[in-house]
Amino acid sequence: MAVLEQLASKHAIELEEKHGAHNYHPLPVVLSRGEGVFVWDVEGKKYYDFLSAYSAVNQGHCHPKIVSALTEQARNLTLTSRAFYNDMLGKFEKYATSTFHYDKLLPMNTGAEAVETAVKICRRWGYQKKGIPANQAKIVVCENNFHGRTTTIVSFSSDQVARSNYGPYTEGFIKIEYDNLHALEQVLKDDAHVAGFLVEPIQGEAGVYVPSEGYLKAAKALCVKYNVLFIADEVQTGIARTGRLLATCGNCTCEDKHCSGNPEVKPDILILGKALSGGAYPVSGVLANDSIMEVITPGSHGSTFGGNPIGAAVGIAALEVIKEEKLAQNADELGRLFRKELGKFVETSDLVVKVRGKGLLNAIVINDTEESSTAWDICMALKENGLLAKPTHGNIIRFAPPLVMTKEQLLDCVSIIIKTISEFKK
Ligand code: PLP
Repeated sequence: MAVLEQLASKHAIELEEKHGAHNYHPLPVVLSRGEGVFVWDVEGKKYYDFLSAYSAVNQGHCHPKIVSALTEQARNLTLTSRAFYNDMLGKFEKYATSTFHYDKLLPMNTGAEAVETAVKICRRWGYQKKGIPANQAKIVVCENNFHGRTTTIVSFSSDQVARSNYGPYTEGFIKIEYDNLHALEQVLKDDAHVAGFLVEPIQGEAGVYVPSEGYLKAAKALCVKYNVLFIADEVQTGIARTGRLLATCGNCTCEDKHCSGNPEVKPDILILGKALSGGAYPVSGVLANDSIMEVITPGSHGSTFGGNPIGAAVGIAALEVIKEEKLAQNADELGRLFRKELGKFVETSDLVVKVRGKGLLNAIVINDTEESSTAWDICMALKENGLLAKPTHGNIIRFAPPLVMTKEQLLDCVSIIIKTISEFKK
């Protein structure tokens, strides 16, 4: 029996190796079931999921309310395309715009598509509203950004693995250092053709870099000063992950339905994806007010699946779960506890030099080089001990569990992490 069970994982991995393109390097675990904060492999071993599909499964695996919205809608109507109206999209647009305080939503499917959409809206706004001469618009982005993997997006990436040999690259992007207001002001002052500043409120993929207190607010003020759109990519940080509904809510805990967002940090264009569906279905979207979104006209942008009725039903349910279960508050409280407990451990450890993050988007930095395999080896050991996590870069491990985790479960995970690292031998 044991041999047969082993074969199930081995076989699944062999199938992917043989028949699938090798565009990922997964941890060798084959999952077949998920519920809440847990996943099970094909041999029946149970794990804490400490990655949440890169923050898509904030609401927990197979959340019953989201699954039921999906299956119910799938029985009625799955796809109409936007050639016709469907009876769910308007409801989703109303719900999402009132949740995030914008006039309009443009629905798409994946995070990268939503970023592409924001880039297109920003460029059009630059020409039609700001008066930038044809084909001269520029968008300022940050070093070490991660916004997805389309040709245009990798054109302004600093990750050589993601971009090499994919040229020629799309023009019109200026890269500046993250968390550097001086660099932002300089570029905005020097170039009147800048239409937007695209930024992650926390650089997740780069290794969970939290900018200095006040950075986003000051960046928004600079954008206002130079008539440039402030564009926040909250694909990973949004939907309660960082302890607020949005990372750009800053310290505002306002849950008042009359709140129209914190104007000092509110993005002109907000990009969402991942947990907008709780991981049940690809749903992403871009939010903006009418003065910006009106540059989009029929035929100028779209997607066959964007705004489909299943995505719309799932999107409403996913946002309802966030509110009903107070997941932002839970992420805030558990995140503080996680960093406090791991912080104590870091002081005693030679192997871990730092823990950082916000809400339940955290990372530890391993005392080794970027090129070393130590972070990967620690993730393998964590897997053996029943917890799944993945390095972001050579020496950084991201910890991002589903936000439905309880305090007891979190403390259990902290024990697993501390035990694993304490016993780890290079
Ligand atoms: N933007 C950010 C900040 C992300 O973290 C990601 C994915 O990790 C994306 C965009 C791309 O999303 P997707 O993989 O759904 O295209």
